[in-house]
Amino acid sequence: MRNINLLQLALGVAPPWSVTRGDVDPAARRLDIHIDFKPGSRFACPACGAADCPTHDTDETTWRHLNFFQHQAYLHARVPRVRCTACGVKKIAVSWARPGSGFTLLFEALLMAMVTAMPVNAVARLVGEHDTRIWRVIHHYVDEARENTDAAEVKRVAFDETAARRGHDYITLCVDIDAARVLYATPGKGADTIAAFADDLAKHGGDPQAITEVCIDMSPAFIKGVAENLPEAAVTFDKFHAVKIVNDAVDKVRRAEQKTQSLLRGTRYIWLRNPSGLTDHQRETLAALPTRHLKTARAYQIRLAFQDLYQQPTIEAAEAYLKKWYFWATHSRIDPIIAAARTVKNHQHGILRWFESHIANGLLEGINSLVQAAKAKARGYRSTRNLQAIVYLIAGKLNFGLPV
Ligand SMILES: [Zn+2]
Repeated sequence: MRNINLLQLALGVAPPWSVTRGDVDPAARRLDIHIDFKPGSRFACPACGAADCPTHDTDETTWRHLNFFQHQAYLHARVPRVRCTACGVKKIAVSWARPGSGFTLLFEALLMAMVTAMPVNAVARLVGEHDTRIWRVIHHYVDEARENTDAAEVKRVAFDETAARRGHDYITLCVDIDAARVLYATPGKGADTIAAFADDLAKHGGDPQAITEVCIDMSPAFIKGVAENLPEAAVTFDKFHAVKIVNDAVDKVRRAEQKTQSLLRGTRYIWLRNPSGLTDHQRETLAALPTRHLKTARAYQIRLAFQDLYQQPTIEAAEAYLKKWYFWATHSRIDPIIAAARTVKNHQHGILRWFESHIANGLLEGINSLVQAAKAKARGYRSTRNLQAIVYLIAGKLNFGLPV
């Protein structure tokens, strides 16, 4: 190739390095660029920074670079190992790639941009590399960026679990509510996930004692984990989970009742919705039912009334409202509703906390669905670690410090 200066410009190679040769192989659609340093050059020691160390020997290295149009491009250079009087023989770091990587920084930047937009195996196919090499790049940047995460300002967090791989594997996500980012993703859904979060927080300049508000569902494991590891946090139980407990009770009532009331068959989704969310057809079906005589319809009214709790203007009004609701529900003579009302009562403090904190897991639900969509597109991940990396890529707001 004639235009070596152009290649040099495109690559941003600086003295003592220069492009010495460029070979195009049209049949193989391949461009090989050779870079070398000026003979007799001295380099700084990569360990202690001492200047002007002489070259001891060199190591022939190849890096995959960004395609030049339809050609796959490779960089070749002999990387010097210098002799430092203090540190001995050390391989220098080159400006176009990080140590140990078979890709240039620009190629890695391209990979990282692609993997946030499409599944890793699709990226692998597009660039013609094995996906394990791409995962290695992802893990490097995610781990490094996570390492540099600053959690000093974190005060309000929410936890939720999401399905990891097939079966009953889970990972727990912790979101920084104010920064709207996933701070931490860890395998499991037990109390120990919160302990692990508290450790991780402390490692990144945060303080578990400085966490003042936490939003969780009513899982005993999360409750225990928060009590033990985030001692200053006031707990808000996520309102969608609270409503779901009463909603599930309605569904239980409907399932039992439809064994004797065949009219209830096919009405499941009516009772799971709010009246305003019903289709015309569902509304007609509901109007035609002898609702006065159905336990399911009574349970449904109790559920709608529970939702209205969240419309109360103050925590005092809400507390009084909940007391009345509890009396009604526990006198309904409908067992699943009575059980749900008792669960609500036992978690009353955290349910009412919403009127002070106004925090909910809506953000987490959104992140969850993004993660599950990515997982479905990728047809799952080989390891939980890969899934964790994808969570951070999608929702971690990490800074990878790559060229753009
Ligand atoms: Zn040195």
